[in-house]
Amino acid sequence: MNAPKSQPQITVLDAGGQYCHLIARKIRDLGVYADVLASDTPAGDLSDRKGLIISGGPDSVYEPGSPRIDPGILMSRSAVLGICYGQQLMAFELGGRVRKGDKGEYGLALLSNVKPHALFRNLNGGQQIWMNHRDQVEAVPPGFDVLASTDTCAIAAMGHRERPLMAVQFHPEVVHTSQGTKILSNFVFDVCGCARDWDPKDRIRPIEQEIRTVAGDRNVFFFVSGGVDSTVAYTLCLRALGPDRVYGIYVDTGLMREGETKYVRRLFQHLGATAFHVEESETEFLKALAGVCDPETKRHIIGEQFVVVQERTLSTGHFLDGNWILGQGTIYPDTIESGGTARADVIKTHHNRVAGIQKLIETGRIIEPLASFYKDEVREIGEELGIPGEFLHRHPFPGPGLAIRCLCSDTEAPVERLEPGWLLPIKSVGVKGDSRSYHSVLALENLPSDEIATELVNRTMEINRVVGLVKARAAIPAMRATIGTLTPARLARLRRADAIVRRLSEESGFEREVWQFPVVLIPIGVEGAPDSVVLRPIHSVDGMTAQVVRMPDQLLRRMADELLKVDGVCGVFYDLTHKPPGTIEWE
Ligand code: GLN
Repeated sequence: MNAPKSQPQITVLDAGGQYCHLIARKIRDLGVYADVLASDTPAGDLSDRKGLIISGGPDSVYEPGSPRIDPGILMSRSAVLGICYGQQLMAFELGGRVRKGDKGEYGLALLSNVKPHALFRNLNGGQQIWMNHRDQVEAVPPGFDVLASTDTCAIAAMGHRERPLMAVQFHPEVVHTSQGTKILSNFVFDVCGCARDWDPKDRIRPIEQEIRTVAGDRNVFFFVSGGVDSTVAYTLCLRALGPDRVYGIYVDTGLMREGETKYVRRLFQHLGATAFHVEESETEFLKALAGVCDPETKRHIIGEQFVVVQERTLSTGHFLDGNWILGQGTIYPDTIESGGTARADVIKTHHNRVAGIQKLIETGRIIEPLASFYKDEVREIGEELGIPGEFLHRHPFPGPGLAIRCLCSDTEAPVERLEPGWLLPIKSVGVKGDSRSYHSVLALENLPSDEIATELVNRTMEINRVVGLVKARAAIPAMRATIGTLTPARLARLRRADAIVRRLSEESGFEREVWQFPVVLIPIGVEGAPDSVVLRPIHSVDGMTAQVVRMPDQLLRRMADELLKVDGVCGVFYDLTHKPPGTIEWE
């Protein structure tokens, strides 16, 4: 979008990282145009850049086939910053040593022993950083100094004594690294000498232009959900093409929260949508999902079911003639987590990235005006479009709805003792070192600090999440995994629990302190009360990283008491896991 006035000054070399595109965005936010290219782009094509950044990625440098860069890049005079895998690759290429660590380091860490270096100039305040790795640089290459460390990672940053080569093991591009923007700004302005050439606010005009170009004379059939992304994307299409050419359809999948369909009708009335339709599809979605337990299978079925609804609606011919394309509110994290770049791992397949949709993308029949933006940018664009805050500041809600907050199990199993808690016999999705993980959950009998929880996940490879028990009808060792799938009864139970949590957090004002608050139903319980509820309030800005938010004790007690009154609920747990290593949603 937003065509550059000049050549990119900085290029991010993509080694398959989840945050690769985010690095480029953060640099553009500093007012400097940056782009993303494949990690093996020849040095000759990059000679006019002021600086290069090598991104993170899911691979290990010592494995064959892992991403490489043109060695000429490190021999030239260009300034190069390596991030995570990028630090490991820089060390490896220049004669340092990299090995697998004894334990991982995911989420929160503290940077210490910071040495004077251009990268760390004028930092003030906390040195909280965000880590996401297991491999370690064990020895820096000749000519390099160690610049910083953490408790787990002796070489958390390194720099060459004479040449502009430097690297960090942590992620300065994510919002939870407190001084990250300053570090990137030091690299871009002080080390590389870039000049400002980019206005990050100049977005709406080029997006609307792009919509008109992509649509041509075709109309747009738009899937809306009532969520922020599809509302903003739909509004952009309305403005670019006019209300007669944009048809909105909301599919009631039976997987929505309480009161959602009513809300969506009100929203679309407000937006001035003239062509808008609610499709009741609960029966067919639940039929397609009956008995399914695996999270990726659920996601694929739901995505494909949307395609079925879309094809059926179009074939009735009432809405549009054959000259149409499909609009979706896809944002960048949906794409990257679905494995959208050459070397990125699939963390989870978003419903707007299943095979049926890919086919439409390949044949040029999809329009996604927000596909290169993050949630916080989408909200800013929505504000500029004049969409009221009430509609823009809702918590994000996943496209597959409650289906992926309702964990399923087709076997019974006991919990197992695992120091210092209990291993729950269910799995959830996580992201470790830019790779997907699908691991068990450690349950503790109390609620320790999130530092302790982080330490536990880092050293226990068979888990990716830690939850603490708030209150229950039975002790954890008496609980078991129970058989439970996506039945109307379990979905109703989750919908009830979610509505209670929402009401209490709205009343207390806690809702405004968190970015998102998934409520998850897990098939863990006892006879007569087969399920438990997990509370997952987090803080984030862009959804790419997230920090656990602790709730006031009194509110938590009240919530737990009310949740335990819901029929079939055995216990209430609190998720203490940052992202990484746990994703925000559980599946
Ligand atoms: N795979 C490497 C590790 O686990 C790099 C991870 C990353 O770049 N995020 O250390």
